[in-house]
Amino acid sequence: MDNFKDYPLLAAHAHLQSRVSKRAIDKVIEIWKRAEINMPPFVAAYAIHYQTSPEICTRYNHPHGSGCSFGSRCHFLHRCLFCGCMSSSPHGMFFRDRNDAFICEEYRQFRHEMRDFQDRYNEAKDFNIIVEQMRLVYEKS
Ligand SMILES: [Zn+2]
Ligand SMILES: [Zn+2]
Repeated sequence: MDNFKDYPLLAAHAHLQSRVSKRAIDKVIEIWKRAEINMPPFVAAYAIHYQTSPEICTRYNHPHGSGCSFGSRCHFLHRCLFCGCMSSSPHGMFFRDRNDAFICEEYRQFRHEMRDFQDRYNEAKDFNIIVEQMRLVYEKS
């Protein structure tokens, strides 16, 4: 848990997550719950981190991966919540290609590091728990 040197993306994202307050995260999760948006809890930190006006579109980044049906009429930003869409091809966080691989290169690489980390340290398999643990490590340091 204490050594992320082989896992640069895990480290970067744990650091990002640790800089967002737990209270703000809980608030976003509560808003999503009320709106019946079924997002994994760890994504809430990114919604806060990428504070833009208008906000990044939740539909575009929904885990169903099929994007936002409002298209160009949508009032929200169509950017990836995970990488902020720094990559060359526009995508939502959970978009997949025809081989079912994630289009977001950073998210794909992140998941790869996560799996490796889990195998190596035999940590809990729940993605959200691991991110939360990493967040606490960074909060303490
Ligand atoms: Zn949209
Ligand atoms: Zn991305």
